[in-house]
Amino acid sequence: LLGGDGTLGITIFEEVTALAQKHSAINLGQGFPDEDGPREILDAARAAIADGANQYAPGQGLAVLRHAIAAHQERFYGLHIDPQTEVIVSTGATESIAAAILAFAGPGDEVLTFEPFYDSYGAVIGLSGATHTTAPLNAPDFQPDAASLEAAFSERTRIVVVNNPHNPTGSVLARPALELIVRLAERHGAIIVTDEVYEHLTFGVPHVPIASLPGAAERTLTISSAGKTFSVTGWKVGWLSGPADLVAQVRTVKTFLTYTSGTPFQGAVALGLGLPEEFFTTAAAMLRKKRDLLGEGLRAAGFEVFEPKGTFFTMVDAAPLGIDDATALARRLPSLIGVAAIPVAMFCHEEGARRTRSMLRFAFCKRFDVIEEGALRLATLR
Ligand code: PMP
Ligand code: GLN
Repeated sequence: LLGGDGTLGITIFEEVTALAQKHSAINLGQGFPDEDGPREILDAARAAIADGANQYAPGQGLAVLRHAIAAHQERFYGLHIDPQTEVIVSTGATESIAAAILAFAGPGDEVLTFEPFYDSYGAVIGLSGATHTTAPLNAPDFQPDAASLEAAFSERTRIVVVNNPHNPTGSVLARPALELIVRLAERHGAIIVTDEVYEHLTFGVPHVPIASLPGAAERTLTISSAGKTFSVTGWKVGWLSGPADLVAQVRTVKTFLTYTSGTPFQGAVALGLGLPEEFFTTAAAMLRKKRDLLGEGLRAAGFEVFEPKGTFFTMVDAAPLGIDDATALARRLPSLIGVAAIPVAMFCHEEGARRTRSMLRFAFCKRFDVIEEGALRLATLR
């Protein structure tokens, strides 16, 4: 976790964003939208501050938000959650991920993730003292391979971390894969921690929460966040739901990480979760158009493009351009052509990094004109 000089490391997203700023490059690296979310939500946060909602919220989160999360899970997925005992609000999904892993895993345990994996999983598993094991998601469809997944579980597997839709590959796990994960978790007595922050950002395929599968609910902690759904990544409002006994243990850890999370944003997010269905479908449809526009540009530039079924991200292989080391390319890209992207190897351990050596991740959660300009610049790579 420490940089070579003993200073704390920064994330690859921060590093690439800093490079993009330095070179005034188009930032298709870090996944944050460049347009604000729904006006009524922004207004609600402003009003909450004006109305004095500026002191600590209850540790488990404002009741209005916990009720809205429960109502959202019921409305979209038919999942029943007790807003009193089965949900907590956290400082982004990031805190829920950390608190869940720290609550249940320690030295001697294994925590299994897919690979590539979102960077905070690896860091927090490291902090917990547990061993990080992985199962690969391979091109072109990035679905788990049953035999390797089965082989990745052991009697020491305490947690399996699922991320669906998946960052960085953009894959949406097929139902049989989700069923297999549940069966294997059951067999090994593992808890499922599922990160579903992109739940509303799928393109032509439904989002199936793993908690909705038979046998899953009693061992699953489901995590999501307002950041992606409502384009408010800076608000850092997330949540976690699951069986009361497991949620209580996560809440204990959350208490001593941050105690409580941003009061004025919580009511505003509750309002967002109650927006009509049309808001959610329109946002996904708009994002799908952006995916298509970026995909076209990337193909025209000569990359092999793996079309994502969800998330903010498109993964590409730069090998057809004769580029073998995507990490070196990502470091040069902002100064070279004024575009920033993230090397996929950063989401991997050593072996996975070799497999994904020539791959890059591009974010398309940007304005159409920004994507178009990015594509024009990428076309000069040939
Ligand atoms: N999980 C995944 C898969 C993500 O891509 C991100 C980043 N946006 C997060 C968690 C972090 O979410 P938050 O900003 O709500 O902490
Ligand atoms: N989740 C965002 C991404 O994958 C960035 C989050 C961060 O900067 N840590 O790009």
